[in-house]
Amino acid sequence: MKLLFLGPPGVGKGTQAALVAKRYRIPAISTGEILREAMKAGTPVGLRAKTYVDQGLLVPDEVMIEIVDDRIRQGDCAKGFILDGFPRTVPQARALEEICQLDRIVYMTMADEAIVKRLSGRRVCDNCGATHHVDRLKGRTRCEGCGGNLILRKDDAPETVLNRLSVYHEQTAPLVEYYQGTGRLTAMDGAMPLDEGFAYIEGFLEHAESAGA
Ligand code: AMP
Repeated sequence: MKLLFLGPPGVGKGTQAALVAKRYRIPAISTGEILREAMKAGTPVGLRAKTYVDQGLLVPDEVMIEIVDDRIRQGDCAKGFILDGFPRTVPQARALEEICQLDRIVYMTMADEAIVKRLSGRRVCDNCGATHHVDRLKGRTRCEGCGGNLILRKDDAPETVLNRLSVYHEQTAPLVEYYQGTGRLTAMDGAMPLDEGFAYIEGFLEHAESAGA
């Protein structure tokens, strides 16, 4: 099962992708996470990506296509995978089509104002990557799971979030139309409670399975 989670930054793609990955035992591949790890490790790709990521701009297509092409050829992707954050442009989608065909696309929606609120209040553990929201942290600055520091991602700063949203509307939103024509896309409200959202996605995928997708 080859899946894509599409939607604006902060809509909850990563959170739902992790649940779906566990349920179907396929890897969730977040290109944002791959880039953050490369940046942390100071690899050539990481160094090249940093200026773009920090400003909320897209890393050039050719860099991203190579990263994803390498990743989905790895053994753990043999039974399928979930893409979270790729493709983000029409040329990326076309390049992906040359490599494989996606079975289902889950498009998560949310209004811009809600996204800004979510992302500027988001805190990420600098050790395990778990995400939290300040509204529920009650002043805590350490991760409950591993004790790591909870930090504001540089690109979650309010002015960068606005950049990321305009980049999303200009370059990524056209993918909704691109995939809608295939009949393999469903749209869902990203503000749904986590368990309801997961049940919705599961229903969509089970239907896809029985339909032979
Ligand atoms: P994310 O964690 O998905 O919000 O991604 C964080 C940042 O990584 C984005 O704002 C981009 O700078 C970069 N990025 C991630 N995926 C892609 C992609 N498919 N194409 C271009 N840039 C990307």
